[in-house]
Amino acid sequence: MDTADVVIVGAGLVGLSTAYHLAERGIRHVVVLEREPSFGLGSSGHSAGGIRLQFGLASNVRFSQYGIQMLKEFDTRFGVSASFNACGYLFLTRDPRRWSMMQEAADLQRSLGVAVETLDAEEVRRRFSYVGIDDLAGATFGPHDGVADPFAVMYGFSRRARELGVRILYGREVTAITMERHRITGVDTRGGPIASPIVVNAAGPYARVVGRMAGVEVPVDPYRRAVYVTAPTEALPRRMPMTLDFDTTSYVRREGESLLLGMSDPTEPSGFDCALDEASLIRLIEAVTGWVPELQHTSLMRGWAGLYEITPDDNPVIDGAATAGQPMPEGFYIAAGFSGHGFQHAPAAGRALAELIAGQVPFVDLSPFRWARFHDALRSEPFVI
Ligand SMILES: Cc1cc2nc3c(=O)[nH]c(=O)nc-3n(C[C@H](O)[C@H](O)[C@H](O)COP(=O)(O)OP(=O)(O)OC[C@H]3O[C@@H](n4cnc5c(N)ncnc54)[C@H](O)[C@@H]3O)c2cc1C
Repeated sequence: MDTADVVIVGAGLVGLSTAYHLAERGIRHVVVLEREPSFGLGSSGHSAGGIRLQFGLASNVRFSQYGIQMLKEFDTRFGVSASFNACGYLFLTRDPRRWSMMQEAADLQRSLGVAVETLDAEEVRRRFSYVGIDDLAGATFGPHDGVADPFAVMYGFSRRARELGVRILYGREVTAITMERHRITGVDTRGGPIASPIVVNAAGPYARVVGRMAGVEVPVDPYRRAVYVTAPTEALPRRMPMTLDFDTTSYVRREGESLLLGMSDPTEPSGFDCALDEASLIRLIEAVTGWVPELQHTSLMRGWAGLYEITPDDNPVIDGAATAGQPMPEGFYIAAGFSGHGFQHAPAAGRALAELIAGQVPFVDLSPFRWARFHDALRSEPFVI
């Protein structure tokens, strides 16, 4: 029978980052199993590539700090550029209560060394004149936030992991997780079983399905999210930040000569359907042209939809039996449920999980991401779009 020291279910950004970070620590007999025929067909290949330090939980800020540093140095470490563009992130709100939350979060970010600016309506009008909100309560601007290329990052992780001895097998769906006396013994796949004392659930939107194979309920639900790209346009400045209206969740940023638009549709039910939906598109257009009037002079060129993998508090689950205790089978680990932040948090999540598996203390406090927290009072991440 085929064997491994660690089997990772899912070759998205999280699974590949974990494989790379394990191999870098000398754990090289690692197999990544992906049911799709190639990489990029899950959530990771549909990501808009945004990365920001503006979060409301310290561990999320630290994850992004690690991610930004890695993306900046990606070329030297992985031999491929992540095309990181520090265009900045501008969050806007008309809601005084949300504005208080954003100011509190800015204080936390500053305490962690993040240079974030809090702006009043006048300053937003002066610096970002395309924003047409008359009753703005305030805005936060993160000059070091930006966007990068998710495919390049996936490719970099996967290439380097392979060089270090990791096997990444496509078209290998995991159909069962095997156990003996509450201890992981391996997986069954469509291409035959693999024996392994450790199995990592990095199945993204399918984490609940894979968790159940080990008898572990992982509260991750899939939600369709779409983004659209306009035809090339001069309607908005060439250099502009990723600009988000927190109140409608609609956002716009530059995508080369074009613009990229998106929104979280609150009417969207949970499901695995990724077809583009006209009613959602109409809601997006109404929302975004409501505060960026110049967008009325642009036309849409293309769009795509993928799945967010959402938990009840919009934070991921990064845990294993070593810290979760008895309810979780020994040797079972989870890194899933990134709730729309998985591109930016995959670098740090992979490192932290590799450290947990290697018996080291993770470099970031993972207590907000414990699997068992769903029985406690939850502390949600407030910076969610
Ligand atoms: C439209 C959109 C825009 C986004 N924008 C951003 C952004 O700007 N910034 C950001 O940080 N994040 C963004 N995200 C979120 C980000 O893309 C995800 O959080 C991240 O890709 C999750 O990575 P993952 O590896 O956990 O999941 P995935 O990439 O989905 O990988 C999981 C893999 O597991 C495989 N799998 C499932 N079940 C099995 C099985 N039984 N056997 C074998 N393989 C299996 C799947 O096929 C899949 O390839 C966006 C997402 C979408 C949809």
